[in-house]
Amino acid sequence: MKKCDYCAKEISYFDQYCCEECERRTILYYRRSERFSRLFTIVNTICVFGIPVGLFLASFAPAVGVTIAALSCTILGAMLILLPFPTEGMIRKHKLQKAIKMSRIFGGAVIGLGVLIVGMLFLLKR
Ligand SMILES: [Zn+2]
Repeated sequence: MKKCDYCAKEISYFDQYCCEECERRTILYYRRSERFSRLFTIVNTICVFGIPVGLFLASFAPAVGVTIAALSCTILGAMLILLPFPTEGMIRKHKLQKAIKMSRIFGGAVIGLGVLIVGMLFLLKR
C-alpha cells in the first residue's frame, strides 16, 4: 500500500498525498529547508564540534569548557526545534510529519543534555 508523503496515511497508488493540506505542508517544508539549509549546516557543524571540545576543555578550565558545551547544546537544540530538518533517510522511513516531530524531540533532548552538563558543573564545584 502506498502512503502519503507527509502524514503516512494509506492512499491509492495514483496519489502522492492524502489531502491538499499535506501537499501544502510538504511544499512549505521543502521551501523552508532550502532557504535555511546553509544556516542549518553551519550552526549544526559548529555545535556538534563545540560539545566535545567544551567537554574536553572542561578538564582544564571547567567554567569555560562547560559554558562552551552547554551553549552548543542549547543553540543546537533550539535550532532543531525551530528548524526541524530531518535527514533524507528519516524522511523516507517515517514520512515527513513524523520525521519533523522526531527532530524536534531530539532537539529537546539536546537542550536537556545542556542542562545536565551545567548541573554536573554545579555538583562538581561543591
Ligand atoms: Zn496526508
